[in-house]
Amino acid sequence: MTTTSAPPLRMLHAAAEIFPLVKTGGLADVVGALPPALLAAGADARLLLPGMPAILEAVSRPRKVAEFGPAFGAARVTLRIGRLKVGAGEPAVQAYVIDAPWLYARAGGPYQGPDGKPWDDNLQRFGLLGWVSAQLAGGGLDPAWRPDILHAHDWHAALACSYLRMNPGAAARSVFTVHNLAYQGLFPQGDFRLLGLPQRLMQPDGLEFHGWLSFMKGGLMHADRLTTVSPTYAREITTPEFGCGVEGVLRERAADLSGILNGVDPHHWDPATDRSLAAHYSAVDLTGKARCKAALQREMGLAVRADAPLFGVVSRLSEQKGLDLVLAALPALLAEGAQLALLGSGEAPLEQSFEAATAAYPGQVATRIGYDEAFAHRIMAGADLILVPSRFEPCGLTQLYGMRYGTLPLVRRVGGLADTVDDRVGFLFEDAEAGALTAAARRAVLTYREPARWRAMQQEAMARDHSWDAVAARYMALYESMRPTAG
Ligand code: ADP
Repeated sequence: MTTTSAPPLRMLHAAAEIFPLVKTGGLADVVGALPPALLAAGADARLLLPGMPAILEAVSRPRKVAEFGPAFGAARVTLRIGRLKVGAGEPAVQAYVIDAPWLYARAGGPYQGPDGKPWDDNLQRFGLLGWVSAQLAGGGLDPAWRPDILHAHDWHAALACSYLRMNPGAAARSVFTVHNLAYQGLFPQGDFRLLGLPQRLMQPDGLEFHGWLSFMKGGLMHADRLTTVSPTYAREITTPEFGCGVEGVLRERAADLSGILNGVDPHHWDPATDRSLAAHYSAVDLTGKARCKAALQREMGLAVRADAPLFGVVSRLSEQKGLDLVLAALPALLAEGAQLALLGSGEAPLEQSFEAATAAYPGQVATRIGYDEAFAHRIMAGADLILVPSRFEPCGLTQLYGMRYGTLPLVRRVGGLADTVDDRVGFLFEDAEAGALTAAARRAVLTYREPARWRAMQQEAMARDHSWDAVAARYMALYESMRPTAG
């Protein structure tokens, strides 16, 4: 327990994405929601973000904190601080932004250009993010504020932990969170010299990974504590099946590794107030959900049938997400009278296969290729079930959003899906095989045909507490256990 006289903990969250400004996946949702929840829990939580155009524009009343350069290929870098309000109901968070136009002021994604290829200076772009994080944590850039805890998210910010470790004078402790171990930030070894880190770190017990320079290993080797986004994934990544080649490191650090599930932001995900929907509803009165379903069926060109169980998918289209299993199970699923509505983008063969299925089964399968936040909400509300058949899933957010919207998840029992879905609120299958998915889908359809049972499951799902307040309390307990000793 903390004593009442302990000063508020100060923490700096370093990350490359933040909802709704820059988002490629669940990382952005977490970075948008966790710092405001920590503020509400009494902490002094701040953000550090790269100055991509959408982020620079969103920071209000920016003030210059420091200026330096050349650094990481940029002639001039300005560190600014301002207030960033990411959600209607959330408090604004103080955000440091790295204004380095040479590295960040460009159209395209945070990691890839418009041609879909990684930016060829990603090493510099995210090396700088790590370096600035550690400088702030060491008190070198903002004399008015320094954090007790430096919390780095995913490989983009991972080098923060290495730079901090190389600064013996810094009192701050570090946490590294793995949101997805499959993306490690690998670069040619020869580019290591651009980072200004001691050469001895380019070893297997440092940043070297099978002849490559791995940013992710900076976090895994040098952070004081490691977390990932579900207890099951925390265990899984210590095994060869899920460990992406770094399971040995994670096994060695098992005592420092824990899993904390993500939450759901009620300001963005609430069927009673969601502005994207055709109608509103709650667990007490679900009639609006039927209107959302009819509206979705109309919008997507599906047969408008209340009695057809409607499966929804909102997903990146990648090998990880197991959507090839959905394609293989599709004929059996449709034979049960079901419909499928998919929103996603990613690998071209998967995009093409879902478009071909739409052409083959008009009125029963509908596909929208692209990224569309409002449309994701309409699928979440209009579908009866949300499909998440992932091969691996660190936490998974769409099954949580589905539950909040009374849309029952059908998931593979893996990672965070295993920690958040059980038979009372959804349907699970074990093996990454179409037959296993089909069997679970049949069980779901049978249950759907029993309205009273279905409604009871919906109400139980909608009542599950995945609030960020509870999540913030778990992170606070972790931070408190690491609080640097005075002096
Ligand atoms: P991951 O981070 O692996 O992509 P998560 O389930 O943790 O998976 O988070 C995915 C997030 O991205 C969710 O907020 C989901 O609603 C959103 N999302 C995924 N694909 C799309 C899309 N095509 N359009 C809109 N939102 C999407």
